[in-house]
Amino acid sequence: MIFNVLTLFPELIENSMNTSITGRAIKNDIIKLNTVNIRDFAENKHGQVDDYPYGGGAGMVMQAPPVYRAYKSIEDRIQKENKKKPRVIYLTPQGKVFNQKMAEEFSKEEELVFLCGHYEGIDERVLELIVTDNVSIGDYVLTGGELPALVMMDSISRLVDGVLNNKDSSVYESFYDNKLEYPQYTRPEEFMGMHVPKVLLSGDHKKVDEWRKEESLKRTLERRPDLLDES
Ligand code: SAM
Repeated sequence: MIFNVLTLFPELIENSMNTSITGRAIKNDIIKLNTVNIRDFAENKHGQVDDYPYGGGAGMVMQAPPVYRAYKSIEDRIQKENKKKPRVIYLTPQGKVFNQKMAEEFSKEEELVFLCGHYEGIDERVLELIVTDNVSIGDYVLTGGELPALVMMDSISRLVDGVLNNKDSSVYESFYDNKLEYPQYTRPEEFMGMHVPKVLLSGDHKKVDEWRKEESLKRTLERRPDLLDES
């Protein structure tokens, strides 16, 4: 999996992705991160990539030409490698809200391009030209698309073969089967007078499985009953 990120803040993306599990996957060549600084494709020597909105109003808008040229630098490389055109994800509060099913779908791609906006957003014309998917991470407005891109790359990475090892892998996690995961416990057996449920110490795998299934259903009914409507 190659993650290409078009951004004004490559260091934000790199620092985060090079940490912990995604960092290990990058070191082991299981995933590859390619950040492209949109500012490097500015038309003027000051590296300015934003301008006032036509029609007036508050804020600045990212210009189409530098964004397009930055994208083309990725597309040209992909074309040379005889690969198919990648999906281009624009992070925007106006997109479809990201979920685990979308993460699974994106994890099957060989390569993805994330486009991070800033200020009031990006000139609509370049979005029309290059974007294949508009994705939001929730109904709130952030200052830029970098954190949403990181959220998406983190969850997609976990689904790429070889990224998780036995220690951190988990098949039956929340949203598997439209349910939330059961509660988890580790040592010590007693903490501030609270005990680990007895069944988990019983060594009876069948009973443990049954308990976990029940707890998972109970928790989903309590916290996210809407998930059960989807099954
Ligand atoms: N003016 C835009 C609007 O009202 O739809 C919001 C622009 S926002 C301040 C700046 C950038 O942050 C956006 O271009 C987008 O890339 C990113 N962004 C903000 N909130 C987001 C969210 N919930 N999900 C994904 N991206 C988001």
